[in-house]
Formats: sequence, C-alpha cells, structure tokens
Amino acid sequence: MNNNSSEYLNFIDEALELAKKLPRHFSKFSNKIYDNHQKLVIVVLMQKLKMTSRDIVKWLEVNEFVRLSIGLSRVPVHTTILRFLKKVKNLIGKLLDIRQADSIAIDSTGFEAEQKSYYYRTVWNSEKKQKARRYVKLSVAVDTDKQLILTHKIRMGPRNDNIDFKGLLKELKVQYVIADKAYSSRKNRDFVFYNLRAKPIIPRKKNEGGYNVVHGRYKIEFDDKLYHQRSKVETVFSVIKRKYGSVLRSKKFATQRVELICKLIAYNLDRKIKIYFLFLRIAPEPLNKTFLNTPKFFICMPRGMYKSRTFRRVYVKTPGGKTVIHYEKRKPKQAHCAVCKAVLHGVPRLNPTRMMNISKSKKRVSRPYSNLCSKCMRNKIRESLR
Ligand SMILES: [Zn+2]
Repeated sequence: MNNNSSEYLNFIDEALELAKKLPRHFSKFSNKIYDNHQKLVIVVLMQKLKMTSRDIVKWLEVNEFVRLSIGLSRVPVHTTILRFLKKVKNLIGKLLDIRQADSIAIDSTGFEAEQKSYYYRTVWNSEKKQKARRYVKLSVAVDTDKQLILTHKIRMGPRNDNIDFKGLLKELKVQYVIADKAYSSRKNRDFVFYNLRAKPIIPRKKNEGGYNVVHGRYKIEFDDKLYHQRSKVETVFSVIKRKYGSVLRSKKFATQRVELICKLIAYNLDRKIKIYFLFLRIAPEPLNKTFLNTPKFFICMPRGMYKSRTFRRVYVKTPGGKTVIHYEKRKPKQAHCAVCKAVLHGVPRLNPTRMMNISKSKKRVSRPYSNLCSKCMRNKIRESLR
C-alpha cells in the first residue's frame, strides 16, 4: 500500500467515526444491507473525489481496500446513494459540530447550482431574457487558527449577507469575531459584544458615520493585524472549491444543500488529518495565537464633559500601538478688525493662557491701532487730524 491510498483509508476511518452521530438505520423496517454510516462515508468520499454517484460505484468496485475499510460486502447501486442524499437532509447538519474557537471569521460565497456551462447558459441561449444568476449561497464561520469550519448556513442566492450573522454565531464560544464590511452594523456589534461576550472586529462602512464612534458602553479599536486573519475564510473557500469542486450536481435545493454539507465535512476531515499529522511530526505550530493574546480592545466611557464636541478630539498613536483620544480645547476665532470685521493677519489664534505667555511683538502687528485693519487705521488717523 503506498502513501496515497493510506491517505484515503485515514479519511475513511475519520469519516466512519464522525458518522456514528447518525442513527444506524432510518427505519426498523429497512433492509439493512448498508447502514447509514457506510452510506455517509460513500457520499462524503464522492465529494472528495469530485465524482458522480455512478462514478463512485465503479470506483468502489475496483478498490478492494476501500471497500474493506468501509465494511461493504457488496457495492450499492447508484440510486441507493441518491436516495440517501434525500433522506439525510435533516440530520446531516449536525455532523459539523465544533462550537469553540479563539477567533472566528465569517463570510459567504456562492456555489454554482447547475452543471450547464457558462457558455450554454449565456451565449448559446442568448435570446432568452431570463439570465438571472441562480446559485447556492453558503455562509460559514471558520476557526482562524485551525481553519476548521464551525457553523454554516445555506440558502438560495442571491441574498444579503447580514441575515445569517446571528444564526451563525448563536451557539459559539469565541473571543474574537472577524467579518467584513457587509456585516457592519450596530446590531451585529452589540450581539457579539453583549450576547457572546466577544470582541467584534468589523470595519465600518463608508456611509456609516463618524470614525471611532463610541457605541453604547464599549469602544472598538479596529485592529488591522487581527482583521487580516479574515483572509483565512477566503482561503477555506478557495480550498473547498479547488479540491471538491464549485458546482453542485443535484437539481433540487434540498439535495444541493446535502451535497454542499458533504463538501464541508470532507474539508473538515481532511483538515483534521492534516493538523494531526502536523502535530505528529512536531512541526512548528500551525496556530498563530501569539498576537491574539494582547487585547487591542478596551472599554471606555468618556467623562460627561468630554461627550460634547466642545473639545476637539485628537487621535494620538501611543508607543504601545494603541490609539487614544486626547481632548483639546478648540482654537479661538481669528482676530477681526473692530470696524469693518475683516480678518486681521499677523495675529495668532491661541488660547488666552498661551497668549499671556508669548511676547508682545508676536501678539499683534506693530502699527498704531493694532485692533484695526490697515485701511481702517488710515481712516482713523485722517479723522483724528481733521
Ligand atoms: Zn477695518
């Protein structure tokens, strides 16, 4: 047995272990030739190998090792597999059940729902007006350390991102929630902060108003370095689509959903095996927790007097990398001519206390009537001569 086939056998062992969460048979009257555990392994394997149900049957026929490790005495017909896809739709979601992580990232992506090629759909059928892009939308929460999928939500696309945010997070125990601008809203931040007791790292939308707004009781310091961890979700999407295909072969949404979940299960299993081997070889830790330990987040409620905009806010970056707010008094108005109200140049805009400390020559212009502009000064002198 070479290395490649042992990879499959590892995968099957893990899948069989996972399948134990399913009941052995859906009904006590079922014919009990194959049990649900074996069928699930076949279905997940089908996604891993990017095969159709007919292909996997043929593949199993020639592959004795695999058949043995799944425990199949004979090879099922392809319709058995398809029927299983239909039946398992309510239970299969429970198989992805990791609920704890340090930091998670949330994002969504689309999977093509039909096998017709892009050319066939658009160019060849170009007279048809109906060109609406139909796809299946997958939203996931991903552990950014281990890159495992925690929770998922699958819908018919197109749909907005925001609706699935709470649903994805509800049962999770996390410290940081990283998401992109599409999820930016006060409700989402409040949910993460108050319900999960975690820290939301979501950038603000352009039109969302003030920079670093104080939200209720807490203030979020946006951290670029942590936010960069979000790209792990995109990595996961890219891996799933490359390894297990971005097209769903089923025609009905319910079975498309099962197919997609099988892809996710296959991904998680592969990833777990990989992490396991990394630890066996005592490779450098694949987890980058180091900078997660330094919280860049603090609760702050400004003193009452600082809540108003009487004071100017200055954002100062401290040596520790934090950004803190300094409240400074606003500058007084520019000095004006006492008669015509024109701006007086050469008179600095300083607070009275500072004004007291600078030299007399800097406070005013060196000409008679220094509270008047030059024109008004001339008029004044002429008047006094008459
Ligand atoms: Zn004047």
